[in-house]
Amino acid sequence: MKRFIQIKDLQSALHLQPNPVKIGLVPTMGYLHEGHLSLVKRAKKMCDLVVMSIFVNPLQFGANEDLDRYPRDLERDARLAEEAGVDFLFHPTGEEMYPEPIVTQVEVSGGITEQLCGASRPGHFTGVATVVSKLFHIVRPDCAFFGLKDAQQVAVIQQMVKDLNFPITIVPCDIIREPDGLAMSSRNIYLSEEERKQALILSQSLFETKQKLQSDLFQSADQVNQFLRQRIESQPLAEIDYVETLSYPRLEPVSDLKQQPILVAVAVRFGTTRLIDNILFDNGSV
Ligand code: AMP
Repeated sequence: MKRFIQIKDLQSALHLQPNPVKIGLVPTMGYLHEGHLSLVKRAKKMCDLVVMSIFVNPLQFGANEDLDRYPRDLERDARLAEEAGVDFLFHPTGEEMYPEPIVTQVEVSGGITEQLCGASRPGHFTGVATVVSKLFHIVRPDCAFFGLKDAQQVAVIQQMVKDLNFPITIVPCDIIREPDGLAMSSRNIYLSEEERKQALILSQSLFETKQKLQSDLFQSADQVNQFLRQRIESQPLAEIDYVETLSYPRLEPVSDLKQQPILVAVAVRFGTTRLIDNILFDNGSV
């Protein structure tokens, strides 16, 4: 595995590749876990050369969010990336990505970014779309791999790629979970033992929701949300940010649960840690 900090070095190495070589990009913020590595596995199946980026992008963090304490361990990440078969690891500094304050940004507007995390994290998706556009221009991948753990992010990137004609295939990848169901996340490390226990309510209640949806036990999106709220509020440390049932990928209100796919998404705080999880329900299969 080759490592790069500078954009020009990465680009020279990419230009030296024999033509045609199918390039896959896996953008991450590091502190890697099996969720990230599953994207690499998928990329290796579909592409000849896999580039992983590790960059904790300040543009996508709000002023009161966890940019400064976001977990980082570059050497461990490099080891895991190499073991997983990453060919090029790109881990630029903040100065390399943003040598001057950036004045050009990519904004995906409309409902897709106004709902869910867009509502509770203003500016977040503009930060994401901007850094992902930069990475797309730097690496020029044929395919880029994103996890459905961040289902709204997948929808936003797909919209951006369509609207701006990026010649890139976006490959959504399934959520990887801990054996007990908790969706893997770099932020899980913030959880105390008790918070970690109570956080299980997210996956548990989403799985229960999935079963009820499959058995046609809900009349409306409101009922789904109410059920989930009740289940999540059974845990004293859980503070709900949102519980929503929306169409996917447009993220519009759902008037008929039979109009699928639908996204059931939750964001919940445990102490200072905000966790997200979701199920994507499509024709009875999730
Ligand atoms: P992050 O480092 O959190 O920005 O995540 C980088 C990429 O990994 C994003 O496309 C995420 O959706 C994806 N990802 C994070 N956690 C998981 C997970 N548990 N399962 C699948 N993909 C994930």
